[in-house]
Amino acid sequence: MSAPTPRETFEAIPRKTLTFPYPTHIQKLERLTKRLGGATIWAKREDCNSPLAGGGNKVRKLEYLAADALAQGADTLVSIGGIQSNHTRAVTAVAVACGLKAVTVQEQWVPLDGFEGTIPISETEKSVYGLVGNIQLSRLMGGDVRLVDAGFGIEHKPSLANAVEDVKSKGGKPYAIPAGASLHPLGACGLLRSFLEIEAQEKELGVFFDTIVVCSVTGSSHAGLVVGAALEKFEGKKPRKVIGIDASGKEEATWKQVHFIASSTAKMLGLPAIEDSEVVLDARFNAGIYGLADEATLKAIKIAAETEAFITDQVYEGKSMAGLISLVESQEIPSSSNVLYIHLGGQNALNAQCALA
Ligand code: PLP
Repeated sequence: MSAPTPRETFEAIPRKTLTFPYPTHIQKLERLTKRLGGATIWAKREDCNSPLAGGGNKVRKLEYLAADALAQGADTLVSIGGIQSNHTRAVTAVAVACGLKAVTVQEQWVPLDGFEGTIPISETEKSVYGLVGNIQLSRLMGGDVRLVDAGFGIEHKPSLANAVEDVKSKGGKPYAIPAGASLHPLGACGLLRSFLEIEAQEKELGVFFDTIVVCSVTGSSHAGLVVGAALEKFEGKKPRKVIGIDASGKEEATWKQVHFIASSTAKMLGLPAIEDSEVVLDARFNAGIYGLADEATLKAIKIAAETEAFITDQVYEGKSMAGLISLVESQEIPSSSNVLYIHLGGQNALNAQCALA
């Protein structure tokens, strides 16, 4: 018997269905395309992929981790993020759907006192920041939400390790999920699966997406798409470009993490090593800091909302939308292109910065 192909190896990885039936919808953004006057813009809607508490990229990733947690007999999903983390809200939602408990450590990832060049957070917003949006949903779903003082960081964090030990000390069986589910061997699988849907969708739509734009912070969404492109290259398919737009404000760390995750996922599937040039991360649109918007972010959020009722947030997708708009307007993505923007979700965090309008 011959060795399985990378695609077969990937297809054999267990997954628990936590989303609406795939593929996620691809939508042509005609009014935005007209407004920008360049490349034709499309969006793959991972922001509305699941019935669980708003869905988003994290639910897709967690389909693989949840299957693993259940196979290991875990009783508690333990994870970490900022106070308004979409990820910890998704972990809590997935725990509910799997009949598990959730413990989420919520760190102070966003400097609410401000950062040069960004739009200030009002006193009203500060007073509701820990009460509305994602954290409100986690509490509603019965999550054990634990606020901790540590700042932003996409690496393995001690506060997660402490929470895991705490669950163990009380007789629980924890399953640890790092920030964004990214530094986990299965973290990139969700968005890799999303990427692999594109080819069949293109056939139906009669289009080829030569450029894909995605927001990147903890790295496994971007990495999954990079591996998808590498898999297509390995299979001799027409090449396409994946452009990550950094929203971390710490682009070197994010680039390294994307490269690491893509490389380890490629190795797991039996693909050739990922070259540095395959990980493209554009850091011009991150406002210099995680979590706060600058004028370009806000302008992009408004353009997308006003042209398409396409809602993006100040932390993630507003920044990748700012990148998309700039790359199209400047013709860095040429007018002849069909560009696919991957909408990863994040709208729940918008009401934590309610003055953004
Ligand atoms: N967009 C949204 C809405 C997110 O919640 C995240 C999570 O961090 C990202 C983009 C970035 O994805 P990743 O952390 O996989 O780089």
